[in-house]
Amino acid sequence: MHTRTARIAALSLVVGTALAMHVACKAARPPSKYTQKLVILGFDGMDPDLVGQWMREGLLPNFKKLADQGGFYPLSTTISPESPTAWASFATGVNPGKHNIYDFLIRDTTTYIPDLGMVRREPPGFLFGYVPIKKPKVLSIRGATSFWVTAGNAGVRSSILTVPVTFPPEDVPNGEMLSGLPVPDVRGTMGTFYYFATDLSRYEEGNTEMGGILKRLDVQNDVASTELIGPPNPIVRKKIQELRVKSPTPSDSDRAAIAELQAREDVRVPFTIRWNRQAKTATVDIEGRSILLEPGKMSRWIDLDFRINLLVRVHGMAQMLLMNADHELQLYISPVNWKPDNPPVPISSPSSFAGDLFRKLGYYRTLGWAEATWPLNEGRMDERTFMEDLYKAFDDRAQVILNRIDSRDWDVLVGVIESPDRVQHMMWRLYDPKHPMYDAALASQFGDSIARIYRRADQFLAEVLEHVEPGTAIMLVSDHGFHSWRKAVNVNTWLVQQGYVVIQGQQPGDKKLADLFGGGEFWENVDWTRTRAYAMGLGQIYFNLRGRESRGIVSPGAESTQLADELSAKLLTMTDPEDGSRIVRAVYKRDDVYSGEYLNNASELQVGMEDGYRVSWQTTLGGSPQGIVYSNMKKWSGDHGGYDFATTAGMLISNRPIRRPSPSILDIAPTVLQFFGVSIPGAIDGKPLF
Ligand SMILES: [Zn+2]
Repeated sequence: MHTRTARIAALSLVVGTALAMHVACKAARPPSKYTQKLVILGFDGMDPDLVGQWMREGLLPNFKKLADQGGFYPLSTTISPESPTAWASFATGVNPGKHNIYDFLIRDTTTYIPDLGMVRREPPGFLFGYVPIKKPKVLSIRGATSFWVTAGNAGVRSSILTVPVTFPPEDVPNGEMLSGLPVPDVRGTMGTFYYFATDLSRYEEGNTEMGGILKRLDVQNDVASTELIGPPNPIVRKKIQELRVKSPTPSDSDRAAIAELQAREDVRVPFTIRWNRQAKTATVDIEGRSILLEPGKMSRWIDLDFRINLLVRVHGMAQMLLMNADHELQLYISPVNWKPDNPPVPISSPSSFAGDLFRKLGYYRTLGWAEATWPLNEGRMDERTFMEDLYKAFDDRAQVILNRIDSRDWDVLVGVIESPDRVQHMMWRLYDPKHPMYDAALASQFGDSIARIYRRADQFLAEVLEHVEPGTAIMLVSDHGFHSWRKAVNVNTWLVQQGYVVIQGQQPGDKKLADLFGGGEFWENVDWTRTRAYAMGLGQIYFNLRGRESRGIVSPGAESTQLADELSAKLLTMTDPEDGSRIVRAVYKRDDVYSGEYLNNASELQVGMEDGYRVSWQTTLGGSPQGIVYSNMKKWSGDHGGYDFATTAGMLISNRPIRRPSPSILDIAPTVLQFFGVSIPGAIDGKPLF
């Protein structure tokens, strides 16, 4: 049967797509009714103290010139000072209580299990478990209205490029949008990298704590056969879920069936590596192509197709880097990005826009988290390679912004580059001699990495100024600043010690980032009938609230208020056993700092850490390992999430003077609306700056 039906279905899919593209191309934007032009360049995580210092030292001449025309200010950020939260407030001009993005994680109040915040995913549908009938869908959980929609409805034309929290893309009236974070890779993660090597032990194989898949290579006659693990097959995944729902207490045969399905849950692409020991090169044969790799040289982008079944493929692309072909064979493969011209769900608005850019500019990264932080953190990539790749990530975003500036098809253009954030996360340890991971030899080579990316941003500003018309208003915006992260704090372990979290029996095992995507175990052995408060994410402490959490025991009202007072007072007394330093700088109570329709989703308390201390990775996932304060011995060494927002401001440089003495990131949206004479909706919390 199936061949004919299948062909018809495939054909109709193709025709459908072609029609959709045709319609999208027709919708050209009308000419502008505005003469004023506004460009906002976002540099994620750019720190006002560093910018100030380096402007004074003459390292950032173009920033300085711009600031001299208008001004340079710290830009007050959100609670918590995190990119998703702050950029959502940037877009909407409202506090998190009105836009619902409090952290990069949310939790399920029924199961307490954490999940990535920002989006909700709906899997595709298949007829007979085979013929695609419903496309996968991604829905944003962000509430409130972004300024580009409000302004667009009034006729302002916009170009919105790689701003965090713009995936899935919104329909922008009179505008275009290329999605930024959290566009995932083909595995649905924030960037799963691959590392294949002959010198990996069986013990090291598998998933790393922070998003990598490691595989040992067995070489025979200089050839190794292995496989690339692609997206989970939605059909198999659905069968696993059905089995789990059908039998909550699975029998041995159910268990065997689930294990058999899990073994083939991920779509795999087999490939071979031919090792030329004499030339110290290797050739990868994959999907009918041969790619010759030289050590230390990142390959071009390679198209990769992952076949779900005969009818459905996921189109991806990755780069390969032969790290060693001398005594050992070591191959790195980047996270598989969605192809810009053929993503499984739209990553731009109109949906053809990402593909149009691809045809003009060639390959560019679509993954929201575009930099190689995870392989560096896991010790599978060195600093030199990380920095080379980071410059390319910067350039990928920059070329899109310059191309759209030249199109002249906008009144307001917003382009965000996140590389400054990533370089600070990873290289702070070589800038801060007091960091436990400071290494004088490495610092002599890479100690200026952060400054170099700030200078790249300064140079990019000069390029932008060459491309815009004279008189264009320019704002440089960052969403938060940065701190050294010298010591990690197990907040949940502290809550266990203080009796707020009650564990029955064994201490739960360590959590991995992959557990978030792969249905790992969370909160095992936590006795919810006696647990009053629990920590998750970057500094959020949730109460186990009756009527909200499925096994809640704390009553809203007086009991909750009393618990908030008691717990915040205790948190403020936390000290470092090593030297008695204060760990917690401030604790913010929900009702004091947030207001709006999503207030109920906020944590009861938000901890604001002192410089040097951050909540541990295990705390973010709800884990409670032994010990409370320990040295951060990871390369991920600078941070901002969970620090006190009052000491973590972002920055603003504008070539127009600003009327308000202490601007906030909530003020940008109303500033844009006022700039174009669009009336500011009453729900907006920020105030116009010009
Ligand atoms: Zn960051």
